[in-house]
Amino acid sequence: METKILQPNLETYTLAKSLLEQGKIVAFPTETVYGLGADATNPTAVEKIFLAKGRPNDNPLIVHLGDKRNIQKYVLRITPLEQKIIDAFMPGPISLVLPKNSLIPDCVTAKGPTVAIRIPENQVARDLINFCKKPICAPSANTSKRPSPTIAQHVFQDMNGKIPLIIDGGQTDVGIESTVVKVEKDQVFILRPGKIDKTLLENTLHCPVHENTKVGKIAQSPGMKYTHYKPNCDMILVKTDPIVTIPTLYQEYTKQGKNVIIFCKEEDLPYFSSFHAVSLGKDSKEASHNLFKMLREYEDHDLILAQFVDNGKMVEGLFNRMSRACSGHIV
Ligand code: AMP
Ligand code: MG
Repeated sequence: METKILQPNLETYTLAKSLLEQGKIVAFPTETVYGLGADATNPTAVEKIFLAKGRPNDNPLIVHLGDKRNIQKYVLRITPLEQKIIDAFMPGPISLVLPKNSLIPDCVTAKGPTVAIRIPENQVARDLINFCKKPICAPSANTSKRPSPTIAQHVFQDMNGKIPLIIDGGQTDVGIESTVVKVEKDQVFILRPGKIDKTLLENTLHCPVHENTKVGKIAQSPGMKYTHYKPNCDMILVKTDPIVTIPTLYQEYTKQGKNVIIFCKEEDLPYFSSFHAVSLGKDSKEASHNLFKMLREYEDHDLILAQFVDNGKMVEGLFNRMSRACSGHIV
C-alpha cells in the first residue's frame, strides 16, 4: 500500500473522510502527538489499528470527538465533577474515562465497561473530526513500544506501507500524550500524567486529585504496564548529580567503544562542551516538546545519557516518559 503524506486542506479532508468511511486508517496531528485514527463505531476498522501498531488488544483506545456536547451520546452518564473536568479542560490534552454505552464497540475499550474520551484542541484534528462527523479512535501513531511520533516523518517511519494517508500538521505542540483521568467517589485519579497535572487539576476542581501510582486502589491505565517509548539504543536517565555523573559515565562508555550522546538541560550545555551533547530544552515543558523527536533522531548512537529536566511545568509527565524510555535505568 502506498502511504501518502498530504497537507491539511479540503481535498485532503475529503480523501480522509472517504478512507475512514471505507474502514481504513488515517494518521493525523493533535496537540499532543500524532494519532492513528479509525472510525470508532466500526470494529473492523478498529482491529486494523491494533494490527498496524502491533498493539496488544487488552490496551484500550481513546475516542476523539470534535465537540464536548457530543460526549453524552457515547456514555451512560456524566457526574457533576466529570462535567466540571469537561467544561474546564476540553478541548485540550486530557482524556476522561467514562462508562461507555453500546455505540462504542468492545474492541475499542479492550472489552472494558469504560471509554476514554478526548476533544483535541489542535485545529487539524478538530477540522478532520468535524468534517468526517464521526468519533475517531486514535492511539499514538507509532509501532507499539516505540517513541510516539511528533512529526509526520516519524509516523511514516513506522507506518509506511501499512496505512494510506498521513496528514502533515507540522511538529505537535505538547509532545507527550494526554493526561488520562478517571473520577471515583468524587475524587480524581490520574492514570497517565501529562500536561494537565495534579496541581492544575486541584486548583481548578477543588477536590482531591491522586496520582494513581501513589494510591493503588483503582486499576492502572491498562497501557501503563507495557514497555513504551523505547528508542533503538540504550538509554540511561541521570537524576543524581548530573554535572558529575554524566561526564563520568560518558568517559566510561566511550572507552568501551560506544558512541554516546548526551541530552541535557539547555543551561547545563556548557558543562558538557567537550562531549557530544545536545539540549533537550530550557525547562521540562520544552523538553517534553522535544523528547520523542530527539529519541528518534539520535537512536543511531549506542547510548543516550539523558539528564532529567526537573524545572518548570510538566515534570511528572516528562519523568514518566523518560523513565519508561530508558526502561527504568535511572541513576
Ligand atoms: P495511546 O493511545 O497510545 O495514547 O494510549 C492510550 C492510553 O489511554 C493507554 O495508556 C490506555 O491504557 C489508556 N486508556 C484508554 N482507554 C482507557 C480506559 N477506558 N480506562 C483506562 N485507561 C484507558
Ligand atoms: Mg501510545
